[in-house]
Amino acid sequence: MASLPKDLHIVLFPLMQQGHMIPMIDIARILARHNATVTIVTTRVNADRFRAAIARAIEAKLKIQLVELYLPLSEVGLPEGCENFDMLPSFDLFVKMYTAMGMLEKPAERVLRGLIPPPSCIISDNQFPWTNDVARKLGIPRFVFHGPGCFTYLCLHIVMNTNILNEVESDSDYFVLPGISDRIELTKAQAGGWAKTDTKEMEDFFVQMKAAEEAANGIVVNSFHELEPNYVEELAKAKGKKVWCIGPVSLHNRSFLDIAERGNKAGVDEHACLMWLDMKESRSVIFICLGSMSSISNEQLFELGLGLELSNIPFIWCIRHKTEETEEWLSGYEERVKDRGLIVRGWAPQVLILSHKAVGGFLTHCGWNSTLEGVSAGLPMVTFPQYADQFINERFIIDVLKVGVSIRMEKADKYGVLVKKENIMRALESIMDKHEEGELRRKRARELGEMAKRAMEEGGSSYLNISSMIQDIVGQLATNNTKSIQDIV
Ligand code: UDP
Repeated sequence: MASLPKDLHIVLFPLMQQGHMIPMIDIARILARHNATVTIVTTRVNADRFRAAIARAIEAKLKIQLVELYLPLSEVGLPEGCENFDMLPSFDLFVKMYTAMGMLEKPAERVLRGLIPPPSCIISDNQFPWTNDVARKLGIPRFVFHGPGCFTYLCLHIVMNTNILNEVESDSDYFVLPGISDRIELTKAQAGGWAKTDTKEMEDFFVQMKAAEEAANGIVVNSFHELEPNYVEELAKAKGKKVWCIGPVSLHNRSFLDIAERGNKAGVDEHACLMWLDMKESRSVIFICLGSMSSISNEQLFELGLGLELSNIPFIWCIRHKTEETEEWLSGYEERVKDRGLIVRGWAPQVLILSHKAVGGFLTHCGWNSTLEGVSAGLPMVTFPQYADQFINERFIIDVLKVGVSIRMEKADKYGVLVKKENIMRALESIMDKHEEGELRRKRARELGEMAKRAMEEGGSSYLNISSMIQDIVGQLATNNTKSIQDIV
């Protein structure tokens, strides 16, 4: 590890959404392990979710701290305490959350000016565009963290910066995405859903995010070079800046507690869950989890359950949203499948489950973290995207990595149409299939899992990228300091 200036201090601004906070907390600990001092700026409720993990890191002598800002929710008409996107009752309220987040600029600048040692660099979620102005005022570099991998990031860049969506007439017709080396077919609804700017406020917000990204000194991506080598380069070319792939960041967690307690308190006893898995044959279980934000209708949930029941495959199924109707249905269902099915209500210790040897497949909503966690565990996946970039991640899993099967096996199973139990069963069976095609998929998935682990080990591509990213920060700081001395002279 190259030596660092003693007082290198990196400040992180994670978006208050599990899919963004969880990897940023991992990034914080990775940077601290590389001897940087790290401050994570967030709000009380979000800090509470990670306090135990940060306390463990401090105990392990990492120089890391949480700083809390007050989020003025009542000023924008949101209930006090509703500080994470997963607490908002509807997607329509996102815009109010963005307004409240925008009001954090001045308090954040004050906090940063008081930090000792003074901040050397900001790594900010791209949904805090104002951190760009704060960095400029402090004369320090700012790197942007977006969330998805390079392939998806590039696809989104193409969608946002070409006329392609205007050239496609119907929302449901498939078109081939231009400027991508793999043949990727998407519908307009799938490609454009991510950047829904149906209000003036959201349109302005996208303009601000784009400008702040263009001004950034580099892009931090939770991916690894070997997973998507062409796309790392193509993304860097498209954005005209350095792209630092430093993941899969979840793999840096080594202790039981760090792996088991990611993001939230689990709705199941982690040890009991492992004991349940210990009783199952190697690679025989499928894990089903649709992420921290998406919710499916009860009708679809029941159909999913029935598909699992028909398949006869052992499973762990994480169900996030419960209603009285769900519970009523589940009581009979759980009894019927009790010999081979475990239902987790609320939050699952996902990475712990995925890394158990009894797990042989993952039915995922294709959030980027889940995608990468599935890859890291060397698992083939059944893809069930719901919204935003998840449809593009699905294409990555199926068309680029070739380790997945879509749950929407029929053309008629378009998004928004109920996926029937028979189709669900076929997708599940196909992923666990012992025949040639399934075997090949599993082999590819295993190889990717090995590559992911190597990338994070000392000397691996992501490990080396972290070191050179830190050196790049040091270099940029020195340039900024020289410039400001020249300005004074
Ligand atoms: N996660 C988890 N348990 C759950 C649901 C989600 O540990 O029950 C974690 C998952 O491991 C991943 C993150 O939450 O790290 C979800 O991020 P992702 O990008 O996959 O999807 P999102 O929730 O943002 O849609």
